[in-house]
Amino acid sequence: MKPIPNSIAAQAGELAEWRQDFHRHPELGYQEQRTAAKVAERLDGFGLDGVETGIGGTGVIGVLHGRGGPGGAAIMLRADMDALPIEEATGLPHASTNPGTMHACGHDGHTTMLLGAAKYLAGTRNFDGTVYFCFQPAEEGGAGAKAMLDDGLFERYRPRAVYGMHNWPGLPLGRFAVKDGPVLAAASQFDITITGSGGHAAAPHETRDPIVAGAHLVTALQTIVSRIVDPLQPAVLSVTRFEAGSAYNVIPGSALLAGTIRSFDDDVQRQIIVEMERHCAQTAAAFGVEIEIDRGCKPYPPTLNDATQADFTEAVMRETFGDANVQRGHPPTMAGEDFSFFAREVPGCYVIIGNGDSAPLHHPAYDFNDEAAPLGVAYWARLVEKALPGEVA
Ligand SMILES: [Zn+2]
Ligand SMILES: [Zn+2]
Repeated sequence: MKPIPNSIAAQAGELAEWRQDFHRHPELGYQEQRTAAKVAERLDGFGLDGVETGIGGTGVIGVLHGRGGPGGAAIMLRADMDALPIEEATGLPHASTNPGTMHACGHDGHTTMLLGAAKYLAGTRNFDGTVYFCFQPAEEGGAGAKAMLDDGLFERYRPRAVYGMHNWPGLPLGRFAVKDGPVLAAASQFDITITGSGGHAAAPHETRDPIVAGAHLVTALQTIVSRIVDPLQPAVLSVTRFEAGSAYNVIPGSALLAGTIRSFDDDVQRQIIVEMERHCAQTAAAFGVEIEIDRGCKPYPPTLNDATQADFTEAVMRETFGDANVQRGHPPTMAGEDFSFFAREVPGCYVIIGNGDSAPLHHPAYDFNDEAAPLGVAYWARLVEKALPGEVA
């Protein structure tokens, strides 16, 4: 185990300042103008070899060559910049100043740690090859990673591997974990519109009631995971919205259902969707209503860690933090992550870093743990030096 470089430990105060500033000014997906501008300005200030902004909306790439200059292998480190539509309830001095918007997933910390790594590596350049520092927009449901890819990211900056890191409440501070295979679930959203014909509640025979049809549909959808999907395959289908009606004595003309589908396998995801479409069509026929399903909301593939890259990151962690602080394997979660879009293109590995005993992610009392930031920077720095070994002076 090598000690964490003094210059990284000495960054702690500055990292906390950057992080708390991002925290005060959270921005939702694709609106990360201020955050992206700060990121680009800092990267420039560190003396990177290139900074490109506006990729996939508000995405930023910093390019840093090692001692040998351009050429050689390239890897990409990725952070996410967006916040969530949550009213913050931490009461902290650095709480959000943007009402109804909050960094409740720690992307302020992720952005800060990657900036810290860029600063350190730009100063030392103790590697050979090229590092792309990727700051992506809209991780929280907006598929910002896909937007960057659609904007030609990997045509201009083609890494041989991509790495991600997420803070994890409940994992002790100072601890890291990595697993190979499925880490996070495929996630897709759906909207279902049921159109019947409304009328007087006292004359249901003159209507086609979308509420009754919707209630049957919700029940029927529950049988997909319990009766159709292989029980050895994890899957979730949750109906999270059911909106209809506005009076005691009126049967409404339409109803809206919405929800999410999660699994670790693209085939299972497709199977669920086919079954949903069948249930929608057959329920429509049975109740004499129209049912439309819209899945236009950017499905996320499952996040699958490459086994070789998982071995590699585990070795980086053990070397940097000691065996006692590194865990191989952790339970997968049904949460989704759009890092999956990058990891589908090139081998990838997404690891987790302990946030200590904090409120959970997406909770109004959550806060990123500033003490974790120098550790995250040390992980990134060692990873680069080990992935792209150069002449050590
Ligand atoms: Zn999140
Ligand atoms: Zn997140």
